Amino acid sequence: MYDVIVVGARCAGSPTAMLLARRGHRVLVLDRATFPSDTVSTHYIHQNGLARLRDWGLLDELRATDATPIRVAHFAYRDIAMSGFAEPVDGIDTTYAPRRAVLDEILVNAARRAGAEVVEGFGVSDLVFSEGRVVGVRGHEPGGLAREFRAAIVIGADGCRSVVAKATEAQAYKVVPATGVNYYAYHSGLDWALEHRVGFNGIWCGGWPTNHGLTVLAVICPKARFKEFRRDVPGNFQATFDEVHPELGAQLREQGEREGDFVAMPHADNYYRHPWGPGWALVGDAGYHKDPYPGFGITDAFMHGEILAERLHQALSGERSMDSALAEYHKLRDETSVRNYEFTTKLSAFGELSPRLNAVFGAIQRSPEWTTKLFGLFAGGVEHHEIFSREAMERLYDDTGVPAADRVYA
Ligand SMILES: Cc1cc2nc3c(=O)[nH]c(=O)nc-3n(C[C@H](O)[C@H](O)[C@H](O)COP(=O)(O)OP(=O)(O)OC[C@H]3O[C@@H](n4cnc5c(N)ncnc54)[C@H](O)[C@@H]3O)c2cc1C
Repeated sequence: MYDVIVVGARCAGSPTAMLLARRGHRVLVLDRATFPSDTVSTHYIHQNGLARLRDWGLLDELRATDATPIRVAHFAYRDIAMSGFAEPVDGIDTTYAPRRAVLDEILVNAARRAGAEVVEGFGVSDLVFSEGRVVGVRGHEPGGLAREFRAAIVIGADGCRSVVAKATEAQAYKVVPATGVNYYAYHSGLDWALEHRVGFNGIWCGGWPTNHGLTVLAVICPKARFKEFRRDVPGNFQATFDEVHPELGAQLREQGEREGDFVAMPHADNYYRHPWGPGWALVGDAGYHKDPYPGFGITDAFMHGEILAERLHQALSGERSMDSALAEYHKLRDETSVRNYEFTTKLSAFGELSPRLNAVFGAIQRSPEWTTKLFGLFAGGVEHHEIFSREAMERLYDDTGVPAADRVYA
């Protein structure tokens, strides 16, 4: 009998397990994958995600890999373009985009070192219920042997297609259908910072350095144009960079060497799922998913894993009831993410900006100071109201000399 079973051992599961094991709880982690292994992701981590790794004592391990530090970002949305970088967030002045085979191995090893039992290659097929409560999981060991494990609580950190969410019929809310299909591939020969650009063609392209001297390049193509795009993926990939930013297109053609195949992934819908019930909880993509365009998935998984682990510790050590602990986790998860969620679902359609966003972004691009602030919003160091409150917008328009007739507030 365990205190906690965590299904899924990547960015949500391993940190949650690690933090609970460090508090002395008996934790079992099950993942059908084996580690180190990659998963579908372009793996950019924002400053506030890296601050979590630092606090957990894992950032130096990541820095000791050959992951390239990132200190400059170029962001464009149609005719709006800006370059700069966020102010340090919680002391973190550099970002990284480590390959998931690198990052997830650090996380799994940290969970093990903390005392969690990690079983790789174990696929969970179902949950065990007793009198309406989840009391365990059943599944299969690598050799095919069926096993059942029991715990006070089962955490689904098992991604978008979560078995735990399905078995508990966790209700989805604020659902916004996905709009894009992601194609990405690793390239050598390029020396790019963070490139993040939406073109007039309604397609996003970007790229940033990762490990092993490689740059991950990606294109997000609207679902409606997916069939046309996939007829000639290498040709359309190159053509997207050429059209959105000819200079990057030329660098890709003349200096870039693709190392490996393209990965294609239709984005899952944007959603929140009710993240808890009797004997179970959800964390990471299993409970909250949004378009990967702004790259919040890993950072959110870290932050929400920490919030959940702290509340579970309080409940497991008898400080409060499990229901009140999980209700607070739910509230904090949603309150701290909803503004980014709305922002993400608006921007990731790659259509014309709303009049307000167009006016605000248009003003921001004229000011290095406000550009730093906007990048700080993505990085997690600036609150939405510091840019989008009426007073902040007034200041922005004053600072950048926007005439009264062009000022949009709502
Ligand atoms: C194309 C693409 C690009 C992205 N780019 C970025 C980016 O640049 N930055 C960023 O922050 N986010 C990015 N994301 C999002 C990010 O990858 C996810 O938000 C993040 O991986 C979520 O972590 P997780 O631990 O919740 O789930 P996952 O990483 O999906 O891990 C779930 C784990 O659960 C295991 N599992 C699932 N079912 C079972 C089962 N039944 N039994 C046992 N184990 C199971 C899986 O094997 C897996 O190891 C991207 C996503 C996509 C699709």
